[in-house]
Amino acid sequence: MVRFMASKVRLYVEHPLGEGQSVPLTREQAHYLFGVMRLGEGDVISLINSRDGEWDASVEKAGKKGGILLCQAQTAPLQLPPDLWFLFAPIRKERTAFIVEKAVEMGAAKVMPVQTDFTQSVNRVRQDKLQAHAVEAAEQCGGTFVPPVDDLAKLSAVLKDWPADRQVMFCDELLIGDPVALPDLRGPWAILIGPEGGFSPAEREMLRGLPFAHPVSLGPRILRADTAAVAALTVWQQALGDWT
Ligand code: SAH
Repeated sequence: MVRFMASKVRLYVEHPLGEGQSVPLTREQAHYLFGVMRLGEGDVISLINSRDGEWDASVEKAGKKGGILLCQAQTAPLQLPPDLWFLFAPIRKERTAFIVEKAVEMGAAKVMPVQTDFTQSVNRVRQDKLQAHAVEAAEQCGGTFVPPVDDLAKLSAVLKDWPADRQVMFCDELLIGDPVALPDLRGPWAILIGPEGGFSPAEREMLRGLPFAHPVSLGPRILRADTAAVAALTVWQQALGDWT
């Protein structure tokens, strides 16, 4: 729930958006709009819902525990990110939140926290918290789509059920110093970033044996996992995504 362009508040809602559509507010949303942002009846905000693009909506009713908005006109069409899943091993709480935020800003279609051999168990993930970060990031960056954030799953289990037509950019710290190069394959992709401890030898061997996994270097230095996340998304978006 963030202000955009220093003027209009942007808000993600679950409700359908369309001409003349009224949108009821949850208690939390009403508190944010009327308590925190001090908006009132007649004010106009932007709404997104991951399906119908961005809409201007006016405040029809403002209350302490709820309210009603009325959709006026569409201000932007739905813009879906490329078909890119973003897999990463959770690290410390604030850095995990940072990674989710960056994945949304950079354009990922799905965010998937994975537990790897060297993922520390203290790095608990709360799916609802991470999803809330994804919503905030989309509101803030002008996006019209909020990627779903999955529950934490074991990397081995995720890869066992992997769709064969989806390529994986496996960011392998052992390739440090090699040229940064992605195969020019179009279609569904995923990025995989390891934890602070890197990938285990067993994981590396397993990944290297998968036909859809492509080990990729991210340059001559070892990056922290959160930096590697942004770097990998940049490389992928520039080579195969919607930056071109
Ligand atoms: N502790 C490990 C580094 C882990 S960095 C070591 O010392 O080798 C965390 C993750 O970021 C890695 O698992 C990898 O996915 C990614 N990463 C960081 N730097 C990278 C690089 N130069 N090339 C490819 N991947 C990199």
